[in-house]
Amino acid sequence: YPPERIRNFSIIAHVDHGKSTLADRLLELTGTIKRGHGQPQYLDKLQVERERGITVKAQTATMFHRHALNSNHAMDDNDRPSFLLNLIDTPGHVDFSYEVSRSLAACQGALLVVDAAQGVQAQTVANFYLAFESNLTIIPVINKIDQPTADPDRVRAQLKSMFDLDPKDALLTSAKTGQGLEHLLPAVIERIPCPPGQCDLPMRMLLLDAYYDEYKGVICHVAVVDGALRKGDKIASAATGQTYDALDVGIMHPELKSTGVLFTGQVGYVVSGMRSTKEARVGDTLHWAKSTVIPLPGFKPAKHMVFSGLYPADGSDFDALNHAIERLTCNDASVSVTKETSTALGMGFRCGFLGLLHMDVFHQRLEQEYGARVISTIPTVPYIFEYSDGSKVQVQNPATLASNPGKRVAACWEPSVIATIIIPSEYVGPVITLCSERRGEQLEYSFIDSQRAFMKYRLPLREIVIDFYNELKSITSGYATFDYEDDEYQKSDMVKLDILLNGQPVDAMATIVHNLKAQRVGRELVEKLKKFIDRQMFEITIQAAIGSKIIARETLSAMRKNVLAKCYGGDVTRKKKLLEKQKEGKKRMKRVGSVDIPQEAFHELLKVS
Ligand code: GDP
Ligand code: MG
Repeated sequence: YPPERIRNFSIIAHVDHGKSTLADRLLELTGTIKRGHGQPQYLDKLQVERERGITVKAQTATMFHRHALNSNHAMDDNDRPSFLLNLIDTPGHVDFSYEVSRSLAACQGALLVVDAAQGVQAQTVANFYLAFESNLTIIPVINKIDQPTADPDRVRAQLKSMFDLDPKDALLTSAKTGQGLEHLLPAVIERIPCPPGQCDLPMRMLLLDAYYDEYKGVICHVAVVDGALRKGDKIASAATGQTYDALDVGIMHPELKSTGVLFTGQVGYVVSGMRSTKEARVGDTLHWAKSTVIPLPGFKPAKHMVFSGLYPADGSDFDALNHAIERLTCNDASVSVTKETSTALGMGFRCGFLGLLHMDVFHQRLEQEYGARVISTIPTVPYIFEYSDGSKVQVQNPATLASNPGKRVAACWEPSVIATIIIPSEYVGPVITLCSERRGEQLEYSFIDSQRAFMKYRLPLREIVIDFYNELKSITSGYATFDYEDDEYQKSDMVKLDILLNGQPVDAMATIVHNLKAQRVGRELVEKLKKFIDRQMFEITIQAAIGSKIIARETLSAMRKNVLAKCYGGDVTRKKKLLEKQKEGKKRMKRVGSVDIPQEAFHELLKVS
């Protein structure tokens, strides 16, 4: 396939607007997957993706489609030239906008899918701008037109007023009934430019993604920009200079299909004998080892917005957790991992995530796919602290923030984001209140049309990583949509809040909060802990403190009765059940000093903001 007959495109949409379903239909339409067979949402490969209905890892699929340019519809089907189309799937959730931009790097165009009833939503806006900034040709697709509440004309008007897209260019589809789908691929072929590379230049390709396969080793997804990549070629990384052999080369159809060669403009995979995905730097340029080339513009590296400590729920499981994390990060290079030790929880890891959902998904995968049981500490964003001696540090773990009087904190900066919020006009009031409670600064406030408002806020990242989206959803009856991009660090008045059990600070429970909120957060944390820690043989005091100042305190009185005392010694099976239940409860306990803390208590702490 010469570049003229290749198209690389992706589908971008607000979550739930039908991107995955539409992708499935296109794969069926081109015979890439069989209709009605296979799993729904073919490209969503991970179990969590299916369960949560979100795409986490972008996937690519190659399809073939015959089409006569210049609208020569009379031409016999088999005489029409065949086009090679690469569909590059993108995640729809805010946490993964980094994945979106890296998928877009290999595309020349995008289908911008908008639900005909919901209209333009926050992630539509964010994804539109990502595509627009990458100079992609955008094809608006108004999907779900089968719904009774569909209003395509209103969506057309929104696309015009928000993005200056010509209403005439919009395609109307229903991925459910199949209506209008036949116009999608012709539009892709006719409107999206072919890849711009040069066939006669030395081979250069962009490394899009990499994952580890048990049998084949590291598999790199690549977009060949210039020249051709053949099996057996010696290739080199522009970033490290390391050389590799292209042991296998092929396309994703959608399963790996060896083709021995990838030509200019093609997207596919290469197996190169890399030992770990850490060698595969996403955004790197790979080229023929024998020629020197100018590296392609890479894309921004993943920014870790949320950090949390991960510890084995049962102290002896450290090696198992270590192994599970190693295997999982092999396929998710967007998580950063460093070992850390907590006096309370022992040996564990400090992990950096793209956002809270990313963190949740990572936990879920650790548990589901690797059987690991973990305790995670209160998530924190990376702060920058300056001490009185002039030194500056980035703090990813609140416990490491020095609280000794010799090293006083002189200043602090916290990361902030620019948030886009779209809501029906009647919810403007409550949303403004929420944003100002979360220390937000309004940057823009306008209307998309007569029914929907559009707002932009600068918000501290810490205020949105913890439960902001849920709260926003609940005060707007689920109608608000939200997306954000990162912004500069802002100077801020943050303090370290310690939790003490029987007078001992528990490092794993330390958190950094805004001075004005410290009192309330301290109170809430202490109350939560009181609720979740079981009474024990001795009295437990639970305190929250800033430096040496105690700001909240609760006492848990000692347990008087034995669990078995309730059993009257009579019913043996009941007694057994109780004992078993107690044992089960024990497994999920973490002993901190002399106090047993159930795993749930750690989990509950995550929700306090
Ligand atoms: P994604 O989050 O953008 O990938 O959206 P999905 O493809 O997962 O679709 C979200 C939901 O909308 C699913 O329940 C689909 O079955 C449904 N859906 C997708 N396309 C259509 C459509 O054209 N009409 C209707 N009525 N439902 C659709
Ligand atoms: Mg999806």
